[in-house]
Amino acid sequence: MQCYVCDGNMTQVHKDVETTWKGKTVVFKGINVYVCDSCGEEAYEPDDVKAMQYFIEGAIKKNEYPEIMNVEEVADFFRVSNQTIYNMLRAGKLPAVKVGREWRFPRDKIKAMVFEQGQEEQRVELVARDSGDGLSKKDADIISRHLSDM
Ligand SMILES: [Zn+2]
Repeated sequence: MQCYVCDGNMTQVHKDVETTWKGKTVVFKGINVYVCDSCGEEAYEPDDVKAMQYFIEGAIKKNEYPEIMNVEEVADFFRVSNQTIYNMLRAGKLPAVKVGREWRFPRDKIKAMVFEQGQEEQRVELVARDSGDGLSKKDADIISRHLSDM
C-alpha cells in the first residue's frame, strides 16, 4: 500500500482505536493501521472503518424507539413502571394523545423531556487525547475523515 500523501511505503501495524460516544468509551482492539514510513501519515482499512461505523450505528439504533410510542415503551424509556406512566398521564405531565382507548406518545416530545434540544442530532464524537496510549488528535482526524466520506 502506498501513502496517498507522499507515495511512500506504508507498513501495517495493529493498534487499539478508542472513541467515545455520549460519554461511553468504545475501544476497538487490533485495528489494522497503515503507517507511512516517510511522512508518518496513517490510514485505516476500509473494512475496519465500516465495522466501527456499523457497531456505533447499531448502538445508536438500539436505543431508538418508534416515532409513536406506547405506554410500555415510555415506561421502559424512563425506567419506571407502567403504573407510573398512567399516574403521570392523569396528572397531565406527559405529552400524549388518546387513540381509541390507548395512549400514544410522540417520541420526540418524550425524549425532549430528558435530552437538551439538539443533543439527539449530535454526531458520533471522536475524542482525542493529548498524550498517553489512547487516540491521538491525528488518529481522530483520520477516523473522522473516513466516517464523513461514507
Ligand atoms: Zn507518506
